[in-house]
Amino acid sequence: MIKITAIETGKAICKTLQETAQNNNRSGIGRKIDIFRDPHFVDPLPILVYLIEHPEGNFLVDTGDTWRNSIHGYLPRWNPFFTKMVSIRVAPAEEIGFQLNKMGIDPAKDIEAVILTHFHHDHTGGLDHFPRTRIIGSRENYAEYLSVKGKIGGYLPQRRPIWFKPELIDFTANPTGGFSASHPITKDGRIFLVPTQGHCTGHLSVVVRGDDFTYFLAGDASYNEENIRNEKTDGVTFKPDVALATLKNIKSFATNEPTIVLPCHDRNSMTRLANKQTFA
Ligand SMILES: [Zn+2]
Repeated sequence: MIKITAIETGKAICKTLQETAQNNNRSGIGRKIDIFRDPHFVDPLPILVYLIEHPEGNFLVDTGDTWRNSIHGYLPRWNPFFTKMVSIRVAPAEEIGFQLNKMGIDPAKDIEAVILTHFHHDHTGGLDHFPRTRIIGSRENYAEYLSVKGKIGGYLPQRRPIWFKPELIDFTANPTGGFSASHPITKDGRIFLVPTQGHCTGHLSVVVRGDDFTYFLAGDASYNEENIRNEKTDGVTFKPDVALATLKNIKSFATNEPTIVLPCHDRNSMTRLANKQTFA
């Protein structure tokens, strides 16, 4: 049996123009200026982590963020994108490790692998709970995470655990379902990764062929299902055309087979999962 559980690990509050850019043609830099000038914040968005229970073990998609965001100095003060544009609210007991424990799962022992859709801080802030776990991410995104550009644009590599050495994936083979490549996670092939570039370089999504439906764990490929449906890119992307192509890919994938689409910050992800509401 394969089971997917959504776990809310706190809230993120961002500008409206981060969630949805004004239009798809706006340039990467233009989008950042728009976010900067936007006086409006969205209602709090959930920071979701997905647990996949599979016969080969438990897999976790992303790790959420950490309560340490609340400590002065944790976020680099020189960078307004961390301190003024986004507000992360995580209570200690909301962190993924505590929540797994509450479910009877020991994060240090009972997780086969953690898969990171990308290395943005609200997806990697919970890594400290997994010091002995296999952690999988994309090589391309890992390079961006460690770069100077990364430090400016949403990554906190300086806060990574000292033991952090993820297993890095290159997407080079096995095109599937309209995606240029794929990478199997389980031996039975029912959990696999596909490239979903755009929100950032080397972003990936996790596809799970469940017993009933297919689940598309989209990370931040889009902040919500509606934006996929309406082909609306976010304010974060530096490559709008690539982000748009990804939205179209996901849309066509989820139209071709009954798929429940589950982004990381979608207010309706939990309801859709509970009601088994497919995209098409
Ligand atoms: Zn992100």
